[in-house]
Amino acid sequence: MASKTVEHVLFPGIDVRVERVSDSSGSLVEEAVSTARPGRCPDCRKQARRVHSSYQRTLTERPLGSRQVMVRLRVHRYFCDRRSCSRRTFVQQVGGLTERHRRSSVGLTDWLRAIAVELGGRPAARLCHRLRLAAGRTRLLRLLKASAVPDRAPQVLGVDEFAFRKGCTYGTVLVDVE
Ligand SMILES: [Zn+2]
Repeated sequence: MASKTVEHVLFPGIDVRVERVSDSSGSLVEEAVSTARPGRCPDCRKQARRVHSSYQRTLTERPLGSRQVMVRLRVHRYFCDRRSCSRRTFVQQVGGLTERHRRSSVGLTDWLRAIAVELGGRPAARLCHRLRLAAGRTRLLRLLKASAVPDRAPQVLGVDEFAFRKGCTYGTVLVDVE
């Protein structure tokens, strides 16, 4: 079997470089740096070019075996250079790992949401406790209401209609043209 890098094992398909993995009172701490492209302003969609600063986010990740996992991730903050845009700076997101304003990884959020969908509030919270997933009832219920919302609403929307069966069943498709 070909040898794999630590990134392949811990962050498959995700744009990060792992700097250090350490043990802190029974939890694994994964220190990583984003290697993702700058991305676009969440408001006006202009491609970012200038780095404003960088800072470290802390994310809770899914446990590994019986150990809790924290990710300390260094990401960039970028300027939005579009003059007409009211947003001055924004933080880069790493696809498959981070979402705006969320302190759990995308993978952990998906797990918690799936558990909440299957079990509802209290039973979901009990199962999470058993599995050592840090999530109370309120947070689980909030995940049920908040479906995965994209960073922004589409600005240019394409609409098309098509027939599954002519004169009988039609479908409509909405496309984010950008
Ligand atoms: Zn902007």
